[in-house]
Amino acid sequence: MENISAYIFGPAIFAYEGSSLDISSKIPTSWIELVKNGMRGLSPEIKIKWYQCTLCGQDYEICEHEEGKEYDGVRCVLAPRDIEFLSNSVVDNPKDSKARITDLLIIEENIKKKKYEWRGYKSDSSTFRFKHIQKAYEKKLIPEHVAIHFSNYFQSHSEGNVTYPD
Ligand SMILES: [Zn+2]
Repeated sequence: MENISAYIFGPAIFAYEGSSLDISSKIPTSWIELVKNGMRGLSPEIKIKWYQCTLCGQDYEICEHEEGKEYDGVRCVLAPRDIEFLSNSVVDNPKDSKARITDLLIIEENIKKKKYEWRGYKSDSSTFRFKHIQKAYEKKLIPEHVAIHFSNYFQSHSEGNVTYPD
């Protein structure tokens, strides 16, 4: 009997630059085909504990600046801090077009062996792909030799599918 599990990786990016959140999570197997067929937008549900004022660095609740107002030509912008990730869903058109799945890991397990498949989709930076493979290894989803096999493939391919064993 075959046992399949799947994990998604990708950035969930919010309004303020630099406050991105890179997620990895297990998905129901019924989502695998949806992701393969292009439904890769992420719609995360998050909780932001506090906002930092980018002008003075203090908690916006206590600082004297006002969001959107300019002070000596510099606009007060709020940066979300301590973002807690509550849940995620995969959608066709995410609110934030950058919030999407860039990597999909599928693990097929039967009595004799395990088969690993990594699907790398269009990504803004290949560094993230390697970070995702590293993350999968650290979470013990894939053994070291498989992580190396995947990394080697993506050294010379910006996108694509790679399996282990081939
Ligand atoms: Zn302030």
